[in-house]
Amino acid sequence: MSVELPEASIIAKQLGEVLPGKRVSACHVRDYERMQRIGFMNKDLSYYDRLNGGVVEGVVSRGNTVHVKLDNAMNLLIGPEYGGRVLYHEGAGTAQEKYHLKVDFADGSALTVRLTSMGVISAVDDDGLEASYLYGRDFSEKASPVEPDFTFERFTELISGKTRQLKQVLVGKDAVMVGMSNSAFQDVIYRAGLHPKRRASDLSIEEGEALYAAIRALIDERLRLGGKEGFVDTHGAEGRYTPKMGPNMKDKDCPRCGTPIQRISHGGGQVYLCPECQRHP
Ligand SMILES: [Zn+2]
Repeated sequence: MSVELPEASIIAKQLGEVLPGKRVSACHVRDYERMQRIGFMNKDLSYYDRLNGGVVEGVVSRGNTVHVKLDNAMNLLIGPEYGGRVLYHEGAGTAQEKYHLKVDFADGSALTVRLTSMGVISAVDDDGLEASYLYGRDFSEKASPVEPDFTFERFTELISGKTRQLKQVLVGKDAVMVGMSNSAFQDVIYRAGLHPKRRASDLSIEEGEALYAAIRALIDERLRLGGKEGFVDTHGAEGRYTPKMGPNMKDKDCPRCGTPIQRISHGGGQVYLCPECQRHP
């Protein structure tokens, strides 16, 4: 159910086809107390009311965040990174399912967002955009692996000289790029045949190429297959991408070499790997 870079991109593209030009007529929030307490929704609910009357100018995504921009100096930031559903409803009558935020549009259509794990649904005015956590993190100067300037040369520049282990270089707040989760990380380093404890600065040119190619290939496949398994797009279609490595490979053998898959604790999380294909030199 997680919504990471490829899935956020699918959501933004789909909403970008239907929402621009629509006027917000009402916003409803439900079951929000706990979400507010843990910082997943605005503490001040009046921010959601300020979406009312705004006309959608556009919907874009960067990293794991979807940004709906309105013409009344308001924005809706949607980032259900660890789980959630963002659904578009042609008629409001179909929008009966559980939600934390429902946005009604003047033409009778609606958008619902429900978080099922850690994530953020935030209404922000233009002045607060840069300071908001999701926007600041993802709409930043950092490289994005789906943008044209993310070339192998740029990737090499970004990671060269980084003496930290690959996970810290690719995932989290100190990463050199946006949009890479722990889950995508496991998939990527398995594809590239790299052990998670390798240091970026120790990679050979060929290993760097393999890593870059794996990042591009993973994102391309997830986009092409409608997102990862468990993800549901804004029309309710399910993602069909099965991770090549991750918790879904628990107790299984490596499809390449037949070695039992291992799980190690690494960088504040669990990493599944093939000890044979991803040898630590
Ligand atoms: Zn293997």
